[in-house]
Amino acid sequence: MCATGSDAVTQAFTVPPNALARRVGLLGGTFDPIHEGHLALARHFARVLGLNEVILLPAGQPWQKPGVTAAQHRLAMTRAAAASLALPGVTVTVDADEIEHNGPTYTVETLRRWRATSESNRTAALTLLMGADQLLHLDSWHEWRELFALAHLGVASRPGFDFTALPPEVVREVATRRSGAAALAATPHGHLLVDETLALDVSATEIRRDLPACVASGQRRGTAADKLPAAVWDYILQHHLYLHHG
Ligand code: ATP
Repeated sequence: MCATGSDAVTQAFTVPPNALARRVGLLGGTFDPIHEGHLALARHFARVLGLNEVILLPAGQPWQKPGVTAAQHRLAMTRAAAASLALPGVTVTVDADEIEHNGPTYTVETLRRWRATSESNRTAALTLLMGADQLLHLDSWHEWRELFALAHLGVASRPGFDFTALPPEVVREVATRRSGAAALAATPHGHLLVDETLALDVSATEIRRDLPACVASGQRRGTAADKLPAAVWDYILQHHLYLHHG
């Protein structure tokens, strides 16, 4: 079973007068399954960055993770979780772009498509939200430096992650781009904010390992299934998902 860490309560960011009107946080993930750690990350950055939109973006066929649960189930679970993510003053949506897109998807290409969709998307302050584990291998992402021409990065700490273990190339990029929330709110892209106050000890890997026993017993309380939004747990039971640890 997963241990619970703390979902830090941070001072909400006071949006400055020069902030852009649209401040969007984009949280991409395999979401296999989507869990409370993901929602905590979105909630946390909505406060820290003064976001007025959060977009959840389930990955289509993650090229770095073979053998994931079928895309239509991960999309449905993401929609169920989004409905439970009540954030005052923040519009929460689910973007199926990567699932509808054939073949392997790269974040940089998804961001380009998103920016090209409308004038309002072109000029919005867009922050790609992620846990610190992603920063550790950011330099393996397709055209990773180009990400900063398209979005800001909002990186949150995760238990067990050591910021000093970053590859030197990433350290250099972090050093030049590291900024505060005001800079991210006032510009469309190019900055990086590292937030070290989140410490939620939950991962989809651990949940997948423990779920078959939970699903077999139908037991939620006090098990790994507690780390899932209720609607996601209901969906898993209805569709007989995670019966085996794969
Ligand atoms: P897995 O264990 O299968 O690798 P995961 O729990 O890391 O999955 P993903 O869907 O791969 O989930 O993650 C989507 C994004 O959410 C990533 O940027 C990841 O770092 C972040 N994230 C997931 N769990 C947490 C958490 N507990 N705290 C902070 N960020 C998290």
